[in-house]
Amino acid sequence: MSTFEALARTFASFGEVRLNEPLARHTTFGIGGPADLFVTVRSAEALAGAMAAAAQEGLPVFVLGSGSNILVSDKGIRGIVIDNRARAERSAGDFRFRLESGVPFAAFARRACRQGIAGLAWAVGIPGTLGGAVVYNAGAYGGCLADVLTAVRIYAPGEGEDWVPAERLGLVYRGSVFTRGAFAGKAVLEVELALEPGDARELTALAAEYDRRRLAAQPRGRNAGSMFKNPANAPAWKLIEAVGLRGMRRGDAAISERHCNFFVNLGQATAADVAWLVEEAERRVFEQFGIRLEREVAFVGEWG
Ligand SMILES: Cc1cc2nc3c(=O)[nH]c(=O)nc-3n(C[C@H](O)[C@H](O)[C@H](O)COP(=O)(O)OP(=O)(O)OC[C@H]3O[C@@H](n4cnc5c(N)ncnc54)[C@H](O)[C@@H]3O)c2cc1C
Repeated sequence: MSTFEALARTFASFGEVRLNEPLARHTTFGIGGPADLFVTVRSAEALAGAMAAAAQEGLPVFVLGSGSNILVSDKGIRGIVIDNRARAERSAGDFRFRLESGVPFAAFARRACRQGIAGLAWAVGIPGTLGGAVVYNAGAYGGCLADVLTAVRIYAPGEGEDWVPAERLGLVYRGSVFTRGAFAGKAVLEVELALEPGDARELTALAAEYDRRRLAAQPRGRNAGSMFKNPANAPAWKLIEAVGLRGMRRGDAAISERHCNFFVNLGQATAADVAWLVEEAERRVFEQFGIRLEREVAFVGEWG
C-alpha cells in the first residue's frame, strides 16, 4: 500500500477521498495537474479536522474553494487539497448571517436580492466561495466584501479557532492578510455578513443590470476572471492591448479578443501555455510603460 493509500484511510473520516485527482476538473480554467490527495469536506468541522490531521501527518495543505482565481501548474499540487463544500447557513438575527466558507457567493447574493435583502447585488456574477471572497476581498461595480463583512471564523492547526473582526483582515482592493502571507496555514471556516432590508423588485432589477453589463464585457470560455489587478493609472486590459497582445495565442491558451485582461483556455491549454502569455504581457508592459503588472490570479502548485 502506498503512503497516500494509507493516508486516504485517515482522511476518509472527514469526507470523500480521491488519489491523484486531476485539478483541471476543479478549476474554472479547466487546467491543472493532479493533487496527491483530494478530500471533499462538507462542514466547517470537517475542514478544520482535515487540516489538523494534515498537520499531524506533516502534509502540505491547499484549501480549494471553487478554483475560480487560481492557475494550477501542470504538475499539480503535492500533499493534500481540501475541497471546501461546507455550506451551512444560519441567520444571526437582524439581517446578520453566518455562512460556512464553502457557500457559493453568487448564489447566496442572488437569493438575497430575491428575498429583499440588500447589500450584495454587486456580487451576483462573482464565481467562487465565500472563503475565496474573503481572501481577495472580492468586489465588482463599486461594491466589495469589506462593505458587508463583520467577522470571520478562522482555524489554524495548533492554534484552534477564533472569530476575528473584519477590521483585522487588512482588506484592500483584491487583497487581504491572506494574499500578503500573514495568515499562511489558516483557513476561513465561516463568515458573518451584516445586510439590510431592501426592496426585492429593485434589487432583482439591479442584479439583472449587473448581469447584462458582465455578459457584454466578459468573454465566454474557460478562464479565471481578471488576470491582473488594475494599476493606479490605467486599466490592465488597456496596457495589454497597447503592447499588441489582444488575441495572442500560445497553444490553446489565448488573451481574449473581447477583454485583454482575460486569459482563456480554448480547449486543451496547459498551465505552461497560460504562464507564457502572462509573462509575455508582464515583460512587454514593463518594457513599454515601466509598469509592473501585479497578478490577481494566484499561480499554485509545483512549477518548474
Ligand atoms: C468569470 C469570472 C469572473 C470573475 N469576476 C470577478 C469579479 O467581478 N470580482 C472579483 O473580485 N473576482 C472575480 N473573479 C475571481 C474569483 O471569482 C474570486 O477571486 C473568488 O472570490 C475566488 O473564490 P474561490 O472560492 O474560487 O477561490 P479559489 O480560486 O478556490 O482559491 C483562491 C485562493 O483562496 C484560498 N482560499 C479559498 N478558500 C479559502 C478558505 N476557506 N480559507 C482560506 N483560504 C481559502 C485558496 O487557497 C487560494 O489561495 C472572477 C472569476 C471568474 C472565473
